[in-house]
Amino acid sequence: MTVFDPGYVWVEGGKIRAVGSGLPEGPFEGVEIVDVGGDLLMPGMVNPHSHLAMTMFRGLGEDVDDRLFRYILPLERSMVSPQMVRLGTRLAALELIQGGVTTVADMYYFETEVGRVLVESGLRGVVGQTLADFNAPDQDGIDEGFARVEELREMFKGHPLVTPSIAPHAPYSTGLETMRRVANYAEKTGLPVQMHLAETDGEMDWCQQNYGTRPVELVARAGLLREGLIAAHCLHVNTEEIPVMAKAGVRVAHNARANGKAGRGIAPIHAMRQAGITVGIATDGPMSGNTLDLFSQFAAVVQFQRILAHTRSVMQAPEIVRMATIEGAKVLGLEGVTGSLEVGKQADLIRLDLSAPRLHPIYDPYSALVYAAMPSDVRDVMVDGRWLMRERQVQTLEPAKVLADALGLAKQFKAEVQRIDGNIRQGEGLGA
Ligand SMILES: [Zn+2]
Repeated sequence: MTVFDPGYVWVEGGKIRAVGSGLPEGPFEGVEIVDVGGDLLMPGMVNPHSHLAMTMFRGLGEDVDDRLFRYILPLERSMVSPQMVRLGTRLAALELIQGGVTTVADMYYFETEVGRVLVESGLRGVVGQTLADFNAPDQDGIDEGFARVEELREMFKGHPLVTPSIAPHAPYSTGLETMRRVANYAEKTGLPVQMHLAETDGEMDWCQQNYGTRPVELVARAGLLREGLIAAHCLHVNTEEIPVMAKAGVRVAHNARANGKAGRGIAPIHAMRQAGITVGIATDGPMSGNTLDLFSQFAAVVQFQRILAHTRSVMQAPEIVRMATIEGAKVLGLEGVTGSLEVGKQADLIRLDLSAPRLHPIYDPYSALVYAAMPSDVRDVMVDGRWLMRERQVQTLEPAKVLADALGLAKQFKAEVQRIDGNIRQGEGLGA
């Protein structure tokens, strides 16, 4: 958390060779020197929970009461294909790069496509093949789901950017037996596990009715409450469960804005962090959270915890920046690789243009980052020492083509929505 003003970062062979104040000791032959003027360099940010391809669902049927059952699930069945995942994830990758996010965790379907798009974009990621008991778009039953995970694991074994992962959807949608199988698989392969946990009231009821218990206890029974579990949400965890989760080494991806928008509640992340649980700041998918912009999450994270605690002393600005960088990396088990500007780590960094009036005066850079910075301030982005964006120009994707492809696909989504609405109207007509 040292601030060097002025300072430098020396990158060599994809790694950070030196960091310090003033200028490094030469010689500089063959070294490209980039003078960033008064701009700010910081670690690339980490988004530890998302469903990237769901950019295609952004804003669709937004305020329809039974949105999930009327549109989202039928559309997932009819529209989710390798091509849809590819185009939707590319649109997401563009947004991530332009917003200064260099590492992302994803859980969705056709996850090998997600891994491929991250590689072509140059982003770092933990890609989780989803398993679910309901009929998923890319698997007919759990055995096929596991075959997809195996395919993903083979494809990205030892990859420098992409870490394969297994993602049981949630306790209520995978059930105890599948979770047990996932726990054994993770034990055997060492793959990180991502799942939604203790997210909804319905999940609480389901666990109570089927097992007479709560989600955290059910996941523990399955053997999944373990080191390396990336648990998204964790709204419904009580004071007895928090120390158990901490002891088990569970890490939490916090989705304040998506949770708030759905009226689900507030995850007690201040209490979790005090108990020693690592918590990262995430966006969730663009269907529920609309944006993949981490900057816009920060104020909500602070506000929710302060409202819970009735004090402005919790969630200080430097903590938020830590959560968006090194702690997010730790949630994903990548703290030795990314999340901070330290010698020997991979060079994942971003440059922020500080010229916007909205940012000034800057008495405290952390305050400016948390409360005033926006994706449009991100000027350059580097991952593994490779420029993904320079002077706002994305280097690895063709923005116009990515957008045109996604909008072409959105036309098909629109037609499908009209068909669904037509069918419902016809059904109502017949009923009358
Ligand atoms: Zn989610």
